[in-house]
Amino acid sequence: MGSNQALFECTKCGDCCKGYGGTYLTESDIIQIAAFVDVDIVEFKRRYCVLSGNRPVLAQQANGYCIFFDQHCSIHVVKPRMCRQWPFIQSLMVDIANWHIMAGVCPGMNNQMDDQHLLAAIRREMNK
Ligand code: SF4
Ligand code: SF4
Repeated sequence: MGSNQALFECTKCGDCCKGYGGTYLTESDIIQIAAFVDVDIVEFKRRYCVLSGNRPVLAQQANGYCIFFDQHCSIHVVKPRMCRQWPFIQSLMVDIANWHIMAGVCPGMNNQMDDQHLLAAIRREMNK
């Protein structure tokens, strides 16, 4: 992938829906996804979440994929904020090295730019 190509273009490989320590859920994520799958909040947490520390994250299937992954994201229209934002997450502003780490597991991320251009391009994306 050349530096003049897109900063990010999802290949829909599904790799980001597997492993990586969990998908955090905001209160608003929980309300929306619970309504989408038609269960109340208590039941949603019981069936679809596990705790990471004291924060709920989406549970995983035995194969390591997110509980909502089945060839593709089965809750795409209400997927969690963390999934919607990927790969433009705040920690990139703290340390651009995170882009390269993430790009190592996400083939859709352009990992060919130098850090100065990368940071400027990411800032533009995040300010859209
Ligand atoms: S790992 Fe990257 S390219 Fe693959 S589905 Fe996830 S966001 Fe898209
Ligand atoms: S909610 Fe959807 S996009 Fe997010 S990890 Fe699960 S299957 Fe992937």
